[in-house]
Amino acid sequence: MAKTVSHVVTRPGRVHGDADVQIPVAEDITTVPGIRMREEDVSFYSRAYPQETQNIDKAADRRWVWTIYSEELAGFRKRHDAINEPLVDAAAVSGDLEPTGTPTGEDLTEKLRLKARELGFGEAGFTKMDRRHVYTSKKRWVKFEHAICVALEQDYLQTQTLPSMEAEFAHFGTYEMEGALLLDLADYIRSLGYRAQIHSPNDNSAAYIPMFVAAGLGQLGANGQLLSPHFGSRARIAMITTDAPVTYDQPIDYGIHQFCQECQVCVNRCPGRALVRDKVWWRGVEKNKLIYERCRPVMARYDGCAVCMKVCPIQRFGMPAVMEHYVATGEVLGKGTDLLEGYTFLERGYFGPGELPQFSRDFFEIPHGRNEDWLFQQFKEKLMSGVAPTQEEAVSFAKELHGILAKGNSTIGDE
Ligand code: SF4
Ligand code: SF4
Repeated sequence: MAKTVSHVVTRPGRVHGDADVQIPVAEDITTVPGIRMREEDVSFYSRAYPQETQNIDKAADRRWVWTIYSEELAGFRKRHDAINEPLVDAAAVSGDLEPTGTPTGEDLTEKLRLKARELGFGEAGFTKMDRRHVYTSKKRWVKFEHAICVALEQDYLQTQTLPSMEAEFAHFGTYEMEGALLLDLADYIRSLGYRAQIHSPNDNSAAYIPMFVAAGLGQLGANGQLLSPHFGSRARIAMITTDAPVTYDQPIDYGIHQFCQECQVCVNRCPGRALVRDKVWWRGVEKNKLIYERCRPVMARYDGCAVCMKVCPIQRFGMPAVMEHYVATGEVLGKGTDLLEGYTFLERGYFGPGELPQFSRDFFEIPHGRNEDWLFQQFKEKLMSGVAPTQEEAVSFAKELHGILAKGNSTIGDE
């Protein structure tokens, strides 16, 4: 049944030079611009329970995945890490670099947006760097107040092969490209007389999605990912913070918050049953909370999984087409079809709409916590096995523990 349109969102075209697009938002999925939020609760949780990067807080399973990766995936990941390392290192010190030009004091918002689009970023928006979302280990590192949120599109065709090595090439290849483009954008900001600090997509300094939502670049989907107008969750996101004068963009209601409740495709198709139907209030925002422990084992064993990205109609068809179809018919474009919902799950074969792979309970047993938690767990298992550790093993345990604690427990680059 056709729907009444509440408002029409106008956004820039997919790539630089494309005409603007219009996205009609039906009245019955209109909620609020951005996300439903209780500001005082966001502030409370950020103070009382500050967030830490998964590179640290979930380091145990990030290390464990290397023990179960296929030879091909491990080799590819090592090559990616080698390419990525200098990009992450350059980002880490980028905020210390001096400007190379002379500031004029003019508002640089549109100049920087244009430059970002010319460089190839599909989305570019401006907002306050909300320190409430900065990870504990990065609090002192973050220097500037204004955030430039940018997104690079991951290849469309490769993404549709998810889960697969080909899609992993697209995923990590996009991050490599993005790391290099961020250096160019930061150089440009310095040439205009201002400072720029790169927040790498491979060494996240904060939860970036809230800033992207605040800058109007999309809304949070039920799959836990930013749904951007053209790419859905194929948007690979990163930020630059700066002291350059800019004007903040505003959050937008694309209708996604409520549309996801109608759609539910990712929730129903998730092989790990890691996505949940109902929204909850979590750290001051209303969202669908992903169950990490049900997702991670699937991701690790099935080429990064990401079925939740593949089956999302916004990713597949783009927001304008999906919202136009919803307004015209009241239905979710592609829902219930093999085209949208079907996927091949490595050796397990093809799963069409309504079909899901089954896993045993053991499948979901993974190490939890930080690196030292995993190390202690292994040592405990050794003791419990009845075979006392040798002196050499005990010394090796102590050395490894010291090494982990000394370097701050970080295993950068596993996202
Ligand atoms: S990556 Fe796979 S297991 Fe994890 S939430 Fe997405 S679909 Fe589910
Ligand atoms: S698949 Fe549907 S429910 Fe899931 S994020 Fe995409 S639009 Fe939302």
